[in-house]
Amino acid sequence: MDYRIGQGYDIHRLVEGRKLIVGGHHIEHPLGPLGHSDGDALCHALIDALLGACAMGDIGQHFPPQDARYKDADSLKLLEQVTLMVQQKGLQISNIDSTVILERPKMAPHIPAIISKLAEAMQITPDQVSVKAKTNEGIGALGRGEAIACHVSVLLTSAI
Ligand code: MG
Repeated sequence: MDYRIGQGYDIHRLVEGRKLIVGGHHIEHPLGPLGHSDGDALCHALIDALLGACAMGDIGQHFPPQDARYKDADSLKLLEQVTLMVQQKGLQISNIDSTVILERPKMAPHIPAIISKLAEAMQITPDQVSVKAKTNEGIGALGRGEAIACHVSVLLTSAI
């Protein structure tokens, strides 16, 4: 059995007039992530972790922000595409673990919906997906609620 580990990180500034999308799930909030796509930092960090585990570069190489096709792109759809790339490489997702850093609003009520969206996009079961959330304890830009950041680890194994 071949094991491959990957990690990803992403951060987006939060601004007025943008929808707050986390893991493909819309959360009601006055601020949302600035970005060329929908700014879904959790999906972006997850995509980078998957690509990293496959040694296939990063999200910017596969979905360039200058490319008009990715304007306001649904990042969950990009995650579906990257899942296919993982499968084409003869690998399967064993599990993913993630941490979302967001000062407000409270993430806990949204986590089950996020896990369900991510699991569906990656064609795996919810018990293979972990999403944890924390605040930045009021420290720095994240603590002032000016941004959302995400860390993701993934483990891939050779497909049976
Ligand atoms: Mg991003």
